[in-house]
Amino acid sequence: MSSCLFCDVVNGKLPCDEMYSDENLLAFRDISPQAPTHILLIPRAHIGSLAELKEAHAALAGEMILRATEIAADEGLAAAGYRFVINCGNDGGQTVGHLHLHILGGRSLGWPPG
Ligand code: 5GP
Ligand code: ZN
Repeated sequence: MSSCLFCDVVNGKLPCDEMYSDENLLAFRDISPQAPTHILLIPRAHIGSLAELKEAHAALAGEMILRATEIAADEGLAAAGYRFVINCGNDGGQTVGHLHLHILGGRSLGWPPG
């Protein structure tokens, strides 16, 4: 049996600072925030990364973006702006092998990324 950190969050084995939950998605605060607001939004189902997305995930992927914009607005970020990040694979800087969207805001974010 392979283990997955964020599957453990979904099934309650690993506690998290949950701030949004529905049938398909879960959002919680990042354990090591890189901005005043740093939230992770994940699908409850295990999808390893963007590279594993299939046509059948189209609605779920759309839901992720829409829910993330609502979460950003609820966090008061809409006026000043914010950033979504999805790292994929080694070169993309992905460290947890369960698809997750970072919602970052609350400070001016630099570009380009490192
Ligand atoms: P990645 O580098 O894969 O795009 O992002 C993984 C994120 O998960 C990192 O920002 C890291 O701080 C966060 N993270 C790793 N382990 C945990 C954990 O146990 N709980 C929470 N809430 N975040 C975690
Ligand atoms: Zn998983």
